[in-house]
Amino acid sequence: MKQLIVFDFDWSFVDQDTDRWVFEVLSTELRRKLQERKSSQNTGIQCTPDVVDQTMYDLFKAGFTREDVSGALRILPFHPAMKRAVLSLKERSPETTFICLSNSNEIYIGTILAKHGLTDLFDVIITNPARWDDQHPDLIHVGRRLPASSPPHGCSVGCLANMCKGDELDAYLAAHGGRDSFKRIAYVGDGANDFCPLLRMRSGDVAYVRKGFELAEKIVHERTREDGKKAGLKVDVKFWEQAWEIDE
Ligand SMILES: [Mg+2]
Ligand SMILES: [Zn+2]
Repeated sequence: MKQLIVFDFDWSFVDQDTDRWVFEVLSTELRRKLQERKSSQNTGIQCTPDVVDQTMYDLFKAGFTREDVSGALRILPFHPAMKRAVLSLKERSPETTFICLSNSNEIYIGTILAKHGLTDLFDVIITNPARWDDQHPDLIHVGRRLPASSPPHGCSVGCLANMCKGDELDAYLAAHGGRDSFKRIAYVGDGANDFCPLLRMRSGDVAYVRKGFELAEKIVHERTREDGKKAGLKVDVKFWEQAWEIDE
């Protein structure tokens, strides 16, 4: 069956938040600083890649190297059952396309996939741009998927300023034969910004929503709202906790 599997990355494909993890491994002080910067941006225009970029600069100033950052990413928790799940599905169903839709960044995701031999898994990785500095090889720059200079995406259902995941999913589908060229879409996610793409999916598509995270709360709230303003979620929802359930 020609189907599309969409993976969020942090806490969905892997068992951690990539941005936080790098600092948790390398520097408690900077992990705290990241948190403070995130909370101080709580103004409706919060933009994760901006605060990560600033804090990665501090990490560089503190003397940490590219190898330190890459090493931290290589030990980020990734469940063997998730690897088994995707590789066995790919083998059973070569018609399945995997894409990654993440608010992490190209370098973090690329490093982790390479470590686990999964570089070729995703047809495309839709995420924030990142690059190592030309002059300072230990300094990483993280940018926004939707540059600050672009018109805002206008989404109001939980996406951050730098990326509307629903728009990104629609754009991918439009560029790959349209929604009807896939019999089914399955989406694995956990975050508040994974709600938007679920609204673009249909009955018969499946959302695998991780228990205990923001997306699960949002969906439960959505289903119990009685104010007549239901967002109109049509996708079938299945809750999961651990990667082995995704394999099932
Ligand atoms: Mg996530
Ligand atoms: Zn959106």
